Amino acid sequence: MRYSLRTGDATLTCYRIGEFVDLCRGPHIPRTGMLKAFKMLRLAGAYWRGDSGNRMLTRLYATSFGDKKSLDAYLEARRKAEENDHVRLGQKLDLFISNPNVGQGLPLFTPRGTVMMKTLQRFIEDEEFIRGYRSTLTPFMAKSDLYKISGHWQHYKDGMFIMGDSHEEISRTDPQGAENREVLALRPMTCPFQFMLYKRKLHSYRDLPVRYSETSMLFRNEASGEMHGLTRIRQFTLSEGHIICTPGQLKKEFHDVLKLIGYVMETLDLTDYYYRFSKWDPDKTDKYIDNPAAWESSEKALKEILDENGLTYVEADGEAAFYGPKLDIQMKNVWGKEDTVITVQIDFALPGRFGLTYIDRDGHEKTPMIIHRSSIGCYERTLALLIERYGGKFPFWLSPEQVVVLTVNEALDSYATELVGRLMRAGFRASLDNRNETLKRKVRDAQIAYIPAIVTIGPREKENDEVSVRTLDGNVRTLSTDAFLDKCAQLTRTFAGETTF
Ligand SMILES: [Zn+2]
Repeated sequence: MRYSLRTGDATLTCYRIGEFVDLCRGPHIPRTGMLKAFKMLRLAGAYWRGDSGNRMLTRLYATSFGDKKSLDAYLEARRKAEENDHVRLGQKLDLFISNPNVGQGLPLFTPRGTVMMKTLQRFIEDEEFIRGYRSTLTPFMAKSDLYKISGHWQHYKDGMFIMGDSHEEISRTDPQGAENREVLALRPMTCPFQFMLYKRKLHSYRDLPVRYSETSMLFRNEASGEMHGLTRIRQFTLSEGHIICTPGQLKKEFHDVLKLIGYVMETLDLTDYYYRFSKWDPDKTDKYIDNPAAWESSEKALKEILDENGLTYVEADGEAAFYGPKLDIQMKNVWGKEDTVITVQIDFALPGRFGLTYIDRDGHEKTPMIIHRSSIGCYERTLALLIERYGGKFPFWLSPEQVVVLTVNEALDSYATELVGRLMRAGFRASLDNRNETLKRKVRDAQIAYIPAIVTIGPREKENDEVSVRTLDGNVRTLSTDAFLDKCAQLTRTFAGETTF
């Protein structure tokens, strides 16, 4: 039985089955008799009413369906998701770990995982440089004064890590000294720092656009229940950037940002995304800079840009940044849970708050426009998507280990060692497997480690200066050592999705 109560815009519903009343969005099925197939999924402990002083109860997680076929289909989808979950694969492939003494949401990357992070970083930094970005290095922390100018202190303080005593605590314990004491906080974004760099000199309209990028380490105090693998963490690395431009340059710059993002997503083969146009919520003025006229005009401007670029998008109220509307690139993980991978924002508020200016053609001082943008997103989150996308079989350029050289007997050790050295000097991640095992076993081990190029050296290969290379699809080819090195370089240079020789 369903009861509903309307309060303003919202409807509250509760359901009753016999004695049991559930406050729930529903829907509930009319009769339990409709359920034919059950499966217990897991057990967990839970304190009565969530209070650790109370008795521990057992919570049962189960699922049920109208027939066995639907249940089996669900369980199969769940098994696949579990198998491809980046947290499980991250451990299996030895890419990252978490540690209870280090803390939640603070992943530690192994040497293999670090190779992948650095490879992504090099890929995007080089691409941005070509596209006119210049990178900066700015501090991980700043005085609260800086965040007061940006508005983070007023609108985002709960999400920040404040170091030492807050102003309130200092003025309570040391009222006289409070004025002169510094309160530092770890940065949740890099914008204010790059704005200070922009302000170091005067700019003419001829200097614009200025495109600053930074591979920035950021810190956000996510709630402990929200943390998950590499997707939601407290310290992360963002490919951050700010474009400071004249109003007349805004559309072209935004278009170029979209092109860059499209290129990145295509190269990584993460193409299953959609666009979300995130707007403010006029009822929550504490969450946003309260300037309805500016919100209206900047949302209109962004909508125009999106339409002109022919993007299909969904609109979402209450998802904007506190200083402006944004375009989000949204993707789902293997569990179907959606996250923002990349954002592009138009900012109407911060240029004025920071007093950013340029001298226009007419000799007057004007306020520029700002685009906040990412390009590859948060490296950790993007890596999670890549792990799930490839299930560990990464393309050659991204693979933590690219080439393994296997020998058929000891007599070939020095030749094989020389070859590995040559590969490494050419910039490839190569290693030698000269264990006293059968060749079959060594090939098998390399396949389990998903090494994309498995090279075998026997007397004939040495004699002819050739290599026999096996790829993960089972194909084996023999080619000259020089041709092999050329092919490795080509796979890397073109960020090839498929590894063939
Ligand atoms: Zn920013």
